[in-house]
Amino acid sequence: MKHFLAFFIIFGMIASCNSPKEETVEANETPSEATTEMNNDTPEQEPTKPEETEVWEPKPEKIDPIAQNGVPSDAVILFDGTDLSAWESANEGGGDAQWEINGDGSMTVADKTGDIQTKKSFGSVQLHLEWRSNPENTQTNQNRSNSGVFLQNRYEVQILDNNDNETYVNGMVGAIYKQSPPLVMAAKPTGEWNSYDIIFHAPEFDDAGERTKSGTLTVLLNGVLIQDHFELEGTTEYIGWPKNDAHGKGPIKLQDHQDESGVKYRNIWVRELD
Ligand code: MG
Repeated sequence: MKHFLAFFIIFGMIASCNSPKEETVEANETPSEATTEMNNDTPEQEPTKPEETEVWEPKPEKIDPIAQNGVPSDAVILFDGTDLSAWESANEGGGDAQWEINGDGSMTVADKTGDIQTKKSFGSVQLHLEWRSNPENTQTNQNRSNSGVFLQNRYEVQILDNNDNETYVNGMVGAIYKQSPPLVMAAKPTGEWNSYDIIFHAPEFDDAGERTKSGTLTVLLNGVLIQDHFELEGTTEYIGWPKNDAHGKGPIKLQDHQDESGVKYRNIWVRELD
């Protein structure tokens, strides 16, 4: 009898070891549920069937990439040529943005009226904007069509006319100002429209105000990668080292360099990533 029982115990163990895992999956489970369960059971086991590495849920939200006059349906339009209602003066005391709206759907930096910033604050974003240097501006170095786009009011991607105009490379067009020169100089000839597509991930800070994760910037100028997931060292200071005071969401700011830049902007929209 003892031998008989031992035979059944050993036979049962062998049978369970040899059972294919998928036999334990209920017939009405979706492939993803089944996959998750199987992977959780045997994380070290190499999948042997294609469906074991397929993920079906959750499905990405469907958006229309051109729903708003060529702008994605889930984007916040910041400037479409109509008005500056999404913007305010960045001067102390605030007030309306004073930059000039043009008949061609663009706006021009109104010299010495100050920077303008979005009324809304943002965290991590995908930002699209178009800008044009001023062919009338023949100043040199940092004074030829200087503007810039600041993420969270702190981190500047430089705008400058560097066609036949030398400057320090960590301050040239496409630079993360004073931190990272662009990988290539991909700006169009003076007076032509350029596009920036910027992917910004905001830095993170703990409760004590210490930075726990660096912000990052990826920038395409006219579709060309010029900043590749650059880890921000901190704020982009004109003078001094980058700073890392804790902060939350902040506005997107456009710079009035106050030297008659004549820089124009158009078609500005943003997608929030957090
Ligand atoms: Mg600038």
